[in-house]
Amino acid sequence: MTPKTDLAAYYAHIRALLKEFGVECAELEARILIEDLWLNAQRNAGQKLGEPLKTLNEAIYSAEAAFIPDSIREKINQAIVRRAQGEPLARILGYREFWKDRFLISPATLEPRPDTEILIESVLKKFPIEPAEGLKFLDLGAGSGCILLSLLGEYPHSFGYGIDISPGALECARANADRLGCSARVEFICSNWCEKLSGDSKFDVIVSNPPYIPCAEIGDLARNVRDFDPILALDGGADGLDPYRELIGSLKQFLAPNGWVFFECGIGQAEKIAMMAKKSGAVEVEITKDLSGIERVVEISYGDK
Ligand code: GLN
Repeated sequence: MTPKTDLAAYYAHIRALLKEFGVECAELEARILIEDLWLNAQRNAGQKLGEPLKTLNEAIYSAEAAFIPDSIREKINQAIVRRAQGEPLARILGYREFWKDRFLISPATLEPRPDTEILIESVLKKFPIEPAEGLKFLDLGAGSGCILLSLLGEYPHSFGYGIDISPGALECARANADRLGCSARVEFICSNWCEKLSGDSKFDVIVSNPPYIPCAEIGDLARNVRDFDPILALDGGADGLDPYRELIGSLKQFLAPNGWVFFECGIGQAEKIAMMAKKSGAVEVEITKDLSGIERVVEISYGDK
């Protein structure tokens, strides 16, 4: 079968434009723009999961796809202009893939990153079997909800609490819970860390990817982070460790016996966090590296207390 030249040529055109604007993975991004803003636009707008995704290759070979409406060309052009100005593709599309799902993001949420998937793996290793009564999770600084909702996906009988200080982030996290069919198993709370938790709450697993960038380094971050991730999700104070300092003392109180805390952290921070944890009475502290070999997750246990 001959490919419909219309779409094949259009794909080549978008690819060339992106390349010209210095986009590194122009081929992939051109494909994603066409698939997400056109072929699957209705599916995405309806925010429904479950319908199969249409691919560019299929469309190139199918008769129905030969004609690209002007409104779609305009939409894709606008996306390219934003991309040319350094805006990340995920911000333009309004979602990013994380672990096994697609998560909506908003200006109030951090863009989920592959490094954070290491945290999910760490939890799975420590809790390979879900007890019949399920686990209780707490996510401090839930953002888009990507960590907590991915965990609930892995542990289908468990319940999670997600805390964030930003109402905008919580709105996004709730929308993600809805999309993923998890709403009945999650509660999102607007709070400055644990302030609004009742003192006797207990969790088997506490996860957090807190803001950990030293504030003097924020100006030097890559543009896609500095200009597009919310500052509240990045700024960890003078040395980036303020959130850990603030949290570590109180987490023991909220851990169920044999529970674990899983912290994501930045380059060079893991040992310092491990020291803080030991000082606070932790009986076991482990560090897991990410795929680049950077110490990325600190795992803390206070035993059966
Ligand atoms: N928990 C969210 C994430 O990992 C948000 C983290 C943050 O805003 N610092 O993406």
